[in-house]
Amino acid sequence: MLSERISSVFKKITYAALKAGRNPEEIKLIAVTKSQSIDKIKEAAQLGLRVFGENRVQEAKNKIEALTEFMAQWRINIEWHMIGHLQSNKAKDAVRLFELIHSVDSEKLAALINKEAEKIGKIQRVLIQVKLSEEESKFGIEPEDTEKLIEFCSKLPNIKVEGLMTIPPYFENPEDVRPYFRKLRQLRDFLSGKYSFIKELSMGMSHDFEVAIEEGATMVRIGTALFGQRI
Ligand SMILES: *Cc1c(COP(=O)(O)O)cnc(C)c1O
Repeated sequence: MLSERISSVFKKITYAALKAGRNPEEIKLIAVTKSQSIDKIKEAAQLGLRVFGENRVQEAKNKIEALTEFMAQWRINIEWHMIGHLQSNKAKDAVRLFELIHSVDSEKLAALINKEAEKIGKIQRVLIQVKLSEEESKFGIEPEDTEKLIEFCSKLPNIKVEGLMTIPPYFENPEDVRPYFRKLRQLRDFLSGKYSFIKELSMGMSHDFEVAIEEGATMVRIGTALFGQRI
């Protein structure tokens, strides 16, 4: 049952945080609803979840439209996050739909988001997606180029960089992912010395979020542990 899965995930978040000497409230749960039905999302919202992550702009747009009436009726405010790769031609919609875009990985994309955000008078919150290994997803900026991208973004008036995101390679054993999470945290610590607005660490998915929290995650993106296997 969804309610049981939600409380189980929250318990695990709390336990992992306390184990690492952290305040569990520092960790934001992003419920990843890609390929989940509108009814599932409604159920999750009624059970108290408020932050949802999608990895495709068009799918998110359809869902957000389909949920407008429900949200008004129940006076629920849902925060949508873009967690997948963002294509240039989708930047316009993304800026209109998402509170936070986790996947900025080039100056070109940042400039485009800035331009679209300016058009609607928005300051778009974003994270920089960092690629920590070759076998990782093909998206993300190299760690050594991250600072330059942040410097570039810091000059754009309609974009606000808040931190870093990564999608590490998949390992059966979550312990094997730990070095990647640690690397991202070390990079964040280094960058936040210079850019105090770099705070967030979006890392950790269903099978490894506890390790990510131990390593400092401030946002975990969880799909299957909440909703079951995607069809
Ligand atoms: C699908 C997805 C997730 C969630 O994955 P689960 O293993 O279902 O928790 C997290 N982050 C990104 C970027 C995703 O695409």
